Amino acid sequence: MPECLYIHIPFCLKKCIYCDFLSVPFDKALAEKYTEALTKELHLKAGHRLKTIYIGGGTPTVLSAKSLTEIFKTLKECFELHPDIEITIEANPGTLSAEKTEALRSAGANRLSIGVQSFNDKELAALGRTHTSEEAVKAVETAKNSGFENISLDLIYGIPHGTLKRWQASLLTALDLSPKHISAYELTPEKSTPLYQAIKSNLLALPSEDEIVEMFNLAIDTLTSRGYRHYEISNYALSGCECRHNLNYWQRGEYIGAGAGAHSFANGKRQKNTEDILKYIELSSNGILPVEESQKVSPEDATKEFIFLGLRTAAGINTRQAGDLKERLAEASKELISEGLMELEGDYLKLTRKGILVSNQVIVRLFKALSL
Ligand code: SF4
Repeated sequence: MPECLYIHIPFCLKKCIYCDFLSVPFDKALAEKYTEALTKELHLKAGHRLKTIYIGGGTPTVLSAKSLTEIFKTLKECFELHPDIEITIEANPGTLSAEKTEALRSAGANRLSIGVQSFNDKELAALGRTHTSEEAVKAVETAKNSGFENISLDLIYGIPHGTLKRWQASLLTALDLSPKHISAYELTPEKSTPLYQAIKSNLLALPSEDEIVEMFNLAIDTLTSRGYRHYEISNYALSGCECRHNLNYWQRGEYIGAGAGAHSFANGKRQKNTEDILKYIELSSNGILPVEESQKVSPEDATKEFIFLGLRTAAGINTRQAGDLKERLAEASKELISEGLMELEGDYLKLTRKGILVSNQVIVRLFKALSL
């Protein structure tokens, strides 16, 4: 039985130029209808005992305090919540009033993931973000004053015209705010985004590959020297503050998804809800599960998932859990280990720092060597 629930809120103040997530500009009437439909879907999926809930988006905190409280009320009606449950909600600076953070905290949210991205206003403008660095600092303070102790900050490096110096300044400002967790993502211009088009037309330029490597190394060195464990390719946490919800994904655990475009994984089957927000509202409101795709995971895909998800984590792949694959993995990884891209530590096969930088190529080579 899945013990983790993901909820998608597909609304934002404005679309950022690099964003390919399912999100549309906030519309009050639509968001209210969506919230109602979401509560109906949650009732359709009721009955599980949950250890983690992750409310992501989009920007869940664009919803009113009333809508957010309604969602939490439904969660308590529909599910049995583990006494030690982790309930994360994603937020963006500029949408976090004291009224909202207090409503979230008293409704039961105990982890806040704030999309800061940069503490440099020029970089924020280049990304099309709607907030300033000062607002980001204020958002963290507001959240802390409302009783949020477990705060995660999202940062991005490799921003157009970004420099190593600015990246270092963002990391240090983030550290000054003492979050329990920091995510540091490399900016990846996806084809469907205005950022990709701007780069293609030479209107914007990304830092060079060498600079990106320096930024990646700087994040590892700065954050680990301050006590944060680099526990996943892009994630760092103080001891015991790893995101349990995301760890479940990387360990190939089951989960339920609710909301437009949300994925579920249970009983060896992956399902995806419709991304069409109006269709989602119509189906859910009428008591129909808004599932658009449903697929049994083949044994070959399950093996691939086991490998690439395991390699995202600092622990790596537990070869004891690899069954028949164990011997083949040992053989297939020999060359990558000799090149310093992978290492075997006890029963765990993992990427080295050099390997993380080219993780996609390493995984492709590993799959090829395993004939997957
Ligand atoms: S705030 Fe996040 S989800 Fe919303 S548009 Fe920007 S990147 Fe996308």
